[in-house]
Amino acid sequence: MSKNHKMEIQCPKCHRRSSFTIWDSVNVSLNPELKEKIIDQSLFNFNCPSCRTDALVQYPLIYHDMDRKLWFSNGTIEGKSASENDLANILMDSLRRKDYTILNYQTYDHLCKLINDYE
Ligand SMILES: [Zn+2]
Repeated sequence: MSKNHKMEIQCPKCHRRSSFTIWDSVNVSLNPELKEKIIDQSLFNFNCPSCRTDALVQYPLIYHDMDRKLWFSNGTIEGKSASENDLANILMDSLRRKDYTILNYQTYDHLCKLINDYE
């Protein structure tokens, strides 16, 4: 299941705030159309409705591919509560048992490279 939420983003040019969709996790097996948007990076592109400026928004996104057993994330578990860490560890353990490839990426270019490498 893919998950998203809306967030207010401030335009770097005109400083007006507008709504932007943040994807917390993307399951590309269920939503292959989102994979395309990750590869062309349109999923991260903020287009200001006031001045039409484009800006790339960096946010933590989990890339999940059930068919290829891939789990890519750029989030850190730092700053989270112990119970959240426990939950994350339990999830990681269950993925490892299913022979998942679990990797961290730093940038969206890096994520695209990983997606290509595991095609
Ligand atoms: Zn603007």
